[in-house]
Amino acid sequence: MEALINQKIEDEIISLGFAARLIMSNLDRELIIQRASESLGDFGKSDNIGIFLLDQEGQLLCAGGLIGNVGLTSFFTVELKNTSFEQRLADKYPDYFPLEYINGVPVPSAGKGIENRRCLCAPLIATNNQAIGMVTFDYAADFSLSPLMMQSLLLLLTIVAVALETTRLFQLAVYDGLTGLYIRRYFDLRLTEEENRIKRYGGKLAILMMDIDHFKGVNDRYGHQQGDEVLRDIADITKVSVRQALDSPCRYGGDEFVVIMPDTDLPGALSLAERIRESVQNHIMEGPEGDFNVTLSGGIAFMDQQVLIPRIELLKKADSALYRAKENGRNQIQVWQEDRQG
Ligand code: GH3
Ligand code: MG
Repeated sequence: MEALINQKIEDEIISLGFAARLIMSNLDRELIIQRASESLGDFGKSDNIGIFLLDQEGQLLCAGGLIGNVGLTSFFTVELKNTSFEQRLADKYPDYFPLEYINGVPVPSAGKGIENRRCLCAPLIATNNQAIGMVTFDYAADFSLSPLMMQSLLLLLTIVAVALETTRLFQLAVYDGLTGLYIRRYFDLRLTEEENRIKRYGGKLAILMMDIDHFKGVNDRYGHQQGDEVLRDIADITKVSVRQALDSPCRYGGDEFVVIMPDTDLPGALSLAERIRESVQNHIMEGPEGDFNVTLSGGIAFMDQQVLIPRIELLKKADSALYRAKENGRNQIQVWQEDRQG
């Protein structure tokens, strides 16, 4: 009997460890929520669950869950103020409550709820004992989790909360607040990674440095707010133009942007740069004095295993190509060319 119980505990710990590693092993919020939904359903012994997260406006967003053991795909926001959610979130400990459904997702009911069902509400507690959201589980009224199940579930909930909080902090740390592009420090890290990758495994790398033409004039003429709008629009154009999940578009500083393009040759880099340049030129902005547009200039530098260039040098080359583009009349892309031997 004792051996059987020990085996059960061991099995539980092994699957818990597996679930934890799966959830903690990435920084993609959607993927964490999807994996958390599956694991919380398993460990919570429920086919219907909701993962609710507090957003910046103080509302609760149902960001994931399961309905009939199928991953939730249509998300929605619920009001927090003066609802049954508010107290549950403040509780900071899990408990059972009357249950009702919103869009098929179990939620705590302020009234009597649905007969013969009940809702386990378990807050997601992250750093500093801060509740960042709540998970809801749908049960028959006479069902209770055993102490071992409950402890496993609580541990898993802590892991989910910490993984989500880590992702949020990571996003805050690597994205520029104004443009949503990566910040300079992240750019430096990514470029170092690429440099090391090429040294070790070969391959190629192109970088594109861009700077808005006469941007001071935009600020002077239309105001700083409008200038910010221009920066945001150009960042958006850059984001949609690059290869998703491969290229890293960054705000290098002020009105300067840089894109890291792994595994890209010169023609590939040039065609991307031209695409961005053209889109920016054709993008019409609405200003207080009527429509206007801006242009940008760009410089490209390239390296591969044959011609390894330290990253600082690579940046200088891109910068000098950019300088040439400015000198030559702006609204153009210049490539830094290298004399190759052999
Ligand atoms: P050039 O064609 O030679 O690049 O001319 P430019 O006027 O764009 O010159 P430069 O690139 O040196 O000017 C950058 C300007 O960008 C100066 C600064 O006021 C403005 N700037 C930098 N950061 C921000 C920002 O966050 N918001 C706004 N609105 N302006 C910014
Ligand atoms: Mg400029």
